[in-house]
Amino acid sequence: MAKQTKRDTFKDPNSFVQNFSTDKLLDVAIIGAGFSAICLAIQLRQSRIENFALFEKTDSVGGTWHDNTYPGAACDVPSHLYSFSFEMRHNWPKRFSGQPEILEYLNECATKYLVRRHIFFNTEIVEARFEEEQGVWQIQTSTGKTYFAKVLVSGMGQLNMPNTPAIPGLDHFQGEHFHSARWNHQLDLKGKKVAIVGTGASAIQFVPEVAKQAGELTVFQRSANWIVPKPDREYSAREIWVYEHFPLLQKLYRTLIYFQMEVSHPILHQGNRLGKLAERFARWNIRRQVTDPDVAAALTPDYPVGCRRVLISNDYYPTFNLPHVSLVADNIEQIQENKIITDNNTEYEADVIIFGTGFKSTEFLTPVEFYGKSAHKLNDHWQSGAEAYLGMTVSDFPNFFMMYGPNTNLGHNSIIFMFECQVRYIVQAVKKLLSEHLVSMEVRQEIMNAYNREIQQDLTETVWAANCHSWYKNDSGKITNNWPHTTLDYWMRTRQPNWTEYILKSASAKHTTPAEDRSAIREAS
Ligand code: NAP
Repeated sequence: MAKQTKRDTFKDPNSFVQNFSTDKLLDVAIIGAGFSAICLAIQLRQSRIENFALFEKTDSVGGTWHDNTYPGAACDVPSHLYSFSFEMRHNWPKRFSGQPEILEYLNECATKYLVRRHIFFNTEIVEARFEEEQGVWQIQTSTGKTYFAKVLVSGMGQLNMPNTPAIPGLDHFQGEHFHSARWNHQLDLKGKKVAIVGTGASAIQFVPEVAKQAGELTVFQRSANWIVPKPDREYSAREIWVYEHFPLLQKLYRTLIYFQMEVSHPILHQGNRLGKLAERFARWNIRRQVTDPDVAAALTPDYPVGCRRVLISNDYYPTFNLPHVSLVADNIEQIQENKIITDNNTEYEADVIIFGTGFKSTEFLTPVEFYGKSAHKLNDHWQSGAEAYLGMTVSDFPNFFMMYGPNTNLGHNSIIFMFECQVRYIVQAVKKLLSEHLVSMEVRQEIMNAYNREIQQDLTETVWAANCHSWYKNDSGKITNNWPHTTLDYWMRTRQPNWTEYILKSASAKHTTPAEDRSAIREAS
């Protein structure tokens, strides 16, 4: 980690941001420096668009892979697919890489494609306002500076705001507590009484690791998740050699993984027979690994497979056979100085509480305030749940795009594929705006509405609509996060923008240089 931070602060004489004068108008401002943002930055550079900047609130590249450093953090999509199609890595050490390898990969991409010089680190965007006349976004940052950009793109993703539940009494807890996305690496858990709240994708990865250190471990489960074995293995030196010398074979392997995952999509349809089979398999997985039948029963979900993300692990269930580990499936009622009390009045002592309680996934783009045409606030638009066209554009918010926006999350394949589709689409839009000197580009309201009606209708047939709560749904039950179809469907729909779906506003006045644009904006605002 320290190594990467050092590289980020390295003074680069060719740095775009260090030499950037605020008199200039950016062609593109990108929020974040995670996977999608780095992908867009690379593709802008490949398209010879250099006048862009990324605004990253931390001091490093990586986004979710920079934030989530908890022990055992890993990706549940094979690395040969969970990586850019244009930057394959032949030497992934094993099938499912850990967080350090993924973060290293992203850092290498940022360095290799000279993206790092375009990043303002430690700079959070707090507000963005669309100036309708000029067709530019005015951007306020946490450093007190104002920037202007023709196009604004969010790479904030869906899982960047940790959710720590407001459990009564938490403020009075005398021990240490932290969220898994803000892991306290200074704290030695050796011999301590550790309580873990939450049993989702993150928790199932760090529970076995914490169990290796803690004196006593109590895991508080609100509801169980379906977990199947993780088909992990190390790649042999020979395989790595083959992929290095025969990249076509590696491409073939990547394609194979992609289609293996893609053909599992029917499992996400309600009532599908594959889903029933998967459920039997997952039940067997619990029975074979958990010795205590009561614990096994408590670990068995009461909703169909796929309604929430299906998790993969080989060491989570066996952890509950250890004598110092216990599972509590009662709800937490309150926390006191040194204990957690459940709703059946049982007390559990704790020195440390770790929250693996997920993210504010349906509060898209918060806390940044976006104001579109006529100063419309994006959050007001989204009061009944976030929605967009293709997950990327919103009417009333011209020249604004999102990556990993509403209804683009997947339950069956690699999100990097979706990012690449979005980046391809956005780069085409940027090129059109710039080359035709358009003032603005805005998706037509009726197109966006029809699209969302269709998506929401299609989602009713998916297993996510079954009777379970999940981070895919908002409080009213609307599925705001997931894409209902295959990734190939998404690719088909996004590979070429249909400009008739957009209101394209041309410049009526003479075309100005970026510097002139900038002073005109200053005068107007
Ligand atoms: P999560 O899957 O949303 O799990 C949150 C857990 O906290 C759930 O068990 C939830 O219980 C529990 N919880 C939430 N509020 C609670 C409360 N007030 N009291 C008690 N329990 C509470 O979050 P996550 O584990 O951080 O994972 C989120 C997503 O991140 C994943 O689905 C995945 O997309 C991504 N992720 C991916 C990987 C990967 O390998 N690619 C790894 C980690 C995370 P309920 O189940 O009852 O809501």
